[in-house]
Amino acid sequence: MNWEPVIGLEIHVHLKTRTKMFCRCALEYFAPENSRTCPVCLAHPGALPVPNRKAIEMTILLGHGLGCEIVDRAVFHRKHYFYPDLPKGYQISQYDEPLCVDGAFSLPTADGELRIGIVRAHLEEDAAKNVHMGGAEGRISGADRTLVDFNRAGTPLVEIVTAPDIHSSEHAKRFLQLLRQTVVELGISDAEMEKGSLRFDVNVSVRPEGSDELRTRTELKNMNSFNFAAKGIEREIQRQIEIYESGGRVEQETMHFDPGNESAPPLRSKEEAQDYRYLPEPDLVPVEPPRDVVDRLRGELPELPGARIARFVDEVGFDLAEGLVVSGRDRLFEQVTGDRRAVANILMNQFAATGVDPGAVDAAELSKLIEARDQVPRHVFTEALAASGDPGFSAETYLGDGQITETGDLEPIVDRILAANPGQVEAYRGGKQGLLGFFVGQVMKETEGRANPKLVNELVREKLNA
Ligand code: ADP
Ligand code: MG
Ligand code: ZN
Repeated sequence: MNWEPVIGLEIHVHLKTRTKMFCRCALEYFAPENSRTCPVCLAHPGALPVPNRKAIEMTILLGHGLGCEIVDRAVFHRKHYFYPDLPKGYQISQYDEPLCVDGAFSLPTADGELRIGIVRAHLEEDAAKNVHMGGAEGRISGADRTLVDFNRAGTPLVEIVTAPDIHSSEHAKRFLQLLRQTVVELGISDAEMEKGSLRFDVNVSVRPEGSDELRTRTELKNMNSFNFAAKGIEREIQRQIEIYESGGRVEQETMHFDPGNESAPPLRSKEEAQDYRYLPEPDLVPVEPPRDVVDRLRGELPELPGARIARFVDEVGFDLAEGLVVSGRDRLFEQVTGDRRAVANILMNQFAATGVDPGAVDAAELSKLIEARDQVPRHVFTEALAASGDPGFSAETYLGDGQITETGDLEPIVDRILAANPGQVEAYRGGKQGLLGFFVGQVMKETEGRANPKLVNELVREKLNA
């Protein structure tokens, strides 16, 4: 029997507002612990929340980007649980009336577009951060005490929930990468996994291929790496298949992926909505976004990365198109002139290897460099790519102009190199022809790569055979 994986994702994104969701404390990731707090986010009695308008607008913008309907009326609820990172004893979240519903995300894949339903996107506040001390790598197991940093408490957080429309770990990973790129381009989050501003839960089940049933799922919580997510999913798929094939039953459970970076709620094997005692937040009126604001935000949507991939596919094929967009090199790709496939390849390989920020590059200069790449030695080209993000970078420096092409200029250098390496000269003359490259290399090094390599070859050979 063939098994089909069924995967649904819940993605949490920190919004990059200036202040927190319900108070005016600044959001500053690197601020000293517990220095960005106030009576509201510390839950002092009588403190009242005031929603952050910018966070609501960012969520609406995201909703548009995900093709969601923006509701006329969304309601904040209290979601109760008990944990040290939650000073109020409840989290303000949205429950059965979230702000954005019924969207779809079109994921370009090697075999066309995959439509992934977006069930909802809602706005909530993040909990504080538990910092486990004394254990390995900040993990809870083995820790001897836990400190709480309330700077994170009240950070605006959007949760995006997909339908179980994904059927491979590969597609799950690609969706997550593209969703990340989307929120970054919308300017609503920096979505940096190391900082925890992008985290996701992965729900996995399997079913006989061809069936449309939904079997019991397990959930891997708080993932913060695309590769770990893909591996975790793969492992879970195999585990479930083995259970079914040996006649067993999959139990619904939640697995914590990275206990060191947890945020509440704590893990229990089954968590039902009633456990949270959801109730409408009495201190906040429902959010009723004015239609003109909703429309204005729709008008502000830029071209999204998924659409850009689809636009590039014909020119450069799926892999390069996706790579360019997900790595953020697509804008540069559009500006650099020259053969599309060659430019894409260079950007994704040699250029990528330099680590240069694509945003810092002058596309016109890079175009010149790429155009002339066959006329310069390979290592000069690489060197030039590595410098292409420097202020005032000029391709000319590395091309014709800067190149030493006069025999008269090169001869003394070649003589010097030969004189400095009498042993190698003798070995060459004794038959070790392979040493030619050594001498050429020395000359190139001496001239910092500016010597014309063809000319150097000729000169060195001539002198050695003289
Ligand atoms: P809950 O509200 O209990 O968290 P939901 O039904 O809202 O559960 O689903 C949460 C996530 O789990 C969604 O991303 C959804 O797509 C996914 N999911 C639901 N059922 C399955 C299933 N049988 N297999 C895989 N994923 C599932
Ligand atoms: Mg859930
Ligand atoms: Zn505060």
